[in-house]
Amino acid sequence: MMTRVDPLESFLPDLTGPAKPHAVVVGAGLGGLAAAMRLGAKGYRVTVIDRLDVPGGRGSAIWQDGHRFDLGPTIVTVPQLYRDLWEACGLDFDKDVTLKPLDPFYEIRWPDGTTFTAQHDTDALRAEVAKISPEDVKGFDKFLKDSEARYSFGFENLGRRPMNKLWDLVKVLPTFAKLRADRSVYAHAAKRFKNEKLRMAFSFHPLFIGGDPLHVTSVYILVSFLEKEYGVHYAMGGIAGMAAQMAKVIKSQGGTMLMRTGVDKITIKDGVATGVKLTSGLEVAADVVVSNADAGHTYDTLMADVPKKRWSPAKLKRTRYSMSLFVWYFGTKGTAKDWSDVGHHTILNAPRYKGLLKDIFIKGKLADDMSLYVHRPSVTDPSVAPEGDDSFYVLSPVPHLGHGGVDWKTEEPKYKAKMLKVLEDQLLPGLADKISTEVVFTPETFRDRYLSPYGSGFSIEPRILQSAWFRPHNVSEEVKGLYLVGAGTHPGAGVPGVISTAEVLGKLVPDAEHVK
Ligand SMILES: Cc1cc2nc3c(=O)[nH]c(=O)nc-3n(C[C@H](O)[C@H](O)[C@H](O)COP(=O)(O)OP(=O)(O)OC[C@H]3O[C@@H](n4cnc5c(N)ncnc54)[C@H](O)[C@@H]3O)c2cc1C
Repeated sequence: MMTRVDPLESFLPDLTGPAKPHAVVVGAGLGGLAAAMRLGAKGYRVTVIDRLDVPGGRGSAIWQDGHRFDLGPTIVTVPQLYRDLWEACGLDFDKDVTLKPLDPFYEIRWPDGTTFTAQHDTDALRAEVAKISPEDVKGFDKFLKDSEARYSFGFENLGRRPMNKLWDLVKVLPTFAKLRADRSVYAHAAKRFKNEKLRMAFSFHPLFIGGDPLHVTSVYILVSFLEKEYGVHYAMGGIAGMAAQMAKVIKSQGGTMLMRTGVDKITIKDGVATGVKLTSGLEVAADVVVSNADAGHTYDTLMADVPKKRWSPAKLKRTRYSMSLFVWYFGTKGTAKDWSDVGHHTILNAPRYKGLLKDIFIKGKLADDMSLYVHRPSVTDPSVAPEGDDSFYVLSPVPHLGHGGVDWKTEEPKYKAKMLKVLEDQLLPGLADKISTEVVFTPETFRDRYLSPYGSGFSIEPRILQSAWFRPHNVSEEVKGLYLVGAGTHPGAGVPGVISTAEVLGKLVPDAEHVK
């Protein structure tokens, strides 16, 4: 039963039914949307609040001059996760979202002209390995087996259940030890492959969730198996389209999406979260509060005036954040038939791999060379660009703002010019003359648009001592009635990760009927 006065009730669509317990979700990122769907399915009346104008957070899009720029996630894996989420709401995911399997998955290129095409068929993949280094074929077969073992443990077991009790961690420690989770992804790849290029091709994946391959636990080699087993998909209409469908589900459950609305603080009384205070000063009462804002922002800013047992400002200061990103979104005119060898996903390597990673993650130095991920969705999805044109984004991992030393206002044009040169020399000749529209995101954009500490691209870095129980828990350690979802919590960043944070939340929050 709801007893508190809810000042937002006048905005809510359906006030005629019996009063349901109210859940407020701060943030309409993919984790927040999935959490809202789970809470709606559990019988709560849900209000999702976000300061952006569209849902999806990092998975939102912007529209400019006839182009749609999907701002963040481009690769969808493990479709079953989304099907499970929709099913929990009594719905059919495939009726709402069309996933298009891509094969080949992506191409990796090096400056000397070597290429590696990741794809579904194991023999074809083995041939790609043999093309680069015949002596590494045996190691590849072993690596795939290693990857499968880590998938069963890390993804299905560890990633989909709560990790908020120390005992949850203690129980899995023997498996951690057996699987040599102390070893890094790169170290594991180096054990199986002699060739440095193949070591890169089988260890770079953690970069997609903000992990440094030289330090992230080797449990993450599970991605190679996951890609092969479940494929690499593209959500037609972009992830932003999927986020819009999630918002529709929330509304169909009787929930409310309050966009362009900032949250100033989480209100707390006698150690219990009682709702949120908006930046407008309005207070919204709730029986359950879920924060999908970055875990650091949640504790440091939204709960600034609350003494913390675990996530004190000092502890958050010591916490390592993932790298940031420089992303250049651009549309090109009349190019649909140009660059015919450039597919949906391309990775362009700098000559350095380990040295560049150290610059980004450890030294915090903006290097002159850069490795790029190039997204060209227009080859798969005609809705992203006017007919005959292309929409691209090109992403370069860069140090986060906490390292200091880079003034992005002056650096932005210089860095973009360097990026253009790499692209023109190695992938898209004549690019400069074809660009018709553009948007640039620097680390400062990540800080200001998503309220991401240090402008980090993926929140808290997934190192072993910042994973599972060591991460901010999905049920807050600080106050009752507060839960956390999203990239900074367990299991972590990436679309499958944040969707799983909501699945874990569903296991921790009581059904609405049990809320007094
Ligand atoms: C460029 C890029 C490419 C990526 N590519 C991939 C990929 O291909 N595959 C993949 O799986 N993952 C990818 N990722 C990672 C993935 O996008 C993220 O890990 C995931 O989307 C984060 O979701 P989240 O739920 O943590 O919330 P976020 O997306 O961080 O959203 C949080 C929301 O909370 C809102 N908010 C925060 N504070 C407040 C406040 N005080 N008041 C109101 N609202 C607030 C923000 O506005 C935001 O909308 C990529 C990320 C980026 C940036």
